[in-house]
Amino acid sequence: MTDGVYYVKGVPEDISMDHIVRADGLKGKVKCLAIRTTATCETARQFHDLSPAACAALGRFMTGSLLISESMKGKKDTQTTVIKCDGPIKGMTCVTDFGFKVRAYPIENNIPTEYHRPGKINVGAAVGKGLLTVIRDIGLKEPYVGSTELVSGEIAEDFTYYLASSEQTPSVVSLGVLMEEGRVTQAGGMMIQLLPGAGEEEISYLETRAGGFPEMTYLLSEGFSPAQILDLFMGDPDLEYLDGAPVGFECPCSKERMSEGLATLGRAELEELIASGEGIETQCHFCNKKYHFDPEEIKKLIT
Ligand SMILES: [Zn+2]
Repeated sequence: MTDGVYYVKGVPEDISMDHIVRADGLKGKVKCLAIRTTATCETARQFHDLSPAACAALGRFMTGSLLISESMKGKKDTQTTVIKCDGPIKGMTCVTDFGFKVRAYPIENNIPTEYHRPGKINVGAAVGKGLLTVIRDIGLKEPYVGSTELVSGEIAEDFTYYLASSEQTPSVVSLGVLMEEGRVTQAGGMMIQLLPGAGEEEISYLETRAGGFPEMTYLLSEGFSPAQILDLFMGDPDLEYLDGAPVGFECPCSKERMSEGLATLGRAELEELIASGEGIETQCHFCNKKYHFDPEEIKKLIT
């Protein structure tokens, strides 16, 4: 839908492509965001050969990380979110660059999948207890670092708790990844945040709206776009769409970047690699791409 009431500046012409939408609601007292991340999560699944539970956990984690990254203003701004946990997935790392480019990896990719009910993956069981840390590098002297314990390991609740207790921003966060026949068929999320000026009236309004609201992936599979989902959730005739943007899995790794990492190994270790005559193969954590360095190339790193 590229015209009419659901037209949002910046959203891809083909609204079935992954994208995020921002809006103001309740007369400017709440910030509303909704996102589709189906292709982003499916790309992650393919890169990391994720089992369904790992895919649901990492997909929700990427989607939530994208939503909370929306306040980044500078083109070089970057956000790293990390979960360290005692569940079978053990942990996840996600980097979101300005412009909703995301990349992520889990520590364990092939973990058993438990279900709350048929089709509903028990992400909490895959993640378990642990810590969520958010590192925002927005060009200040020191990056901003905030950290909270996981509430349930279901990810949406964990982001909600993080936002309320670490950033003092009361929010409603909803995240979902639907898998069918081993592939991601729908993924997305929504985040509604109270802005300064909001009070009890807005809080109780949002609580009422949230009660019994359908799951994100159900609405996406019924054909609702992120803009329409915000409209449906808010029920606010004055909802004002601000802008939108495409979203995607993008890894900026390159042989040059990898060589910078290799150069930090130290002279003795590099000389050993050269002497072995075979060089070394390095692999990007985020997209699993491999880079081979032969002894001649390693030599150049020393001089
Ligand atoms: Zn990469």
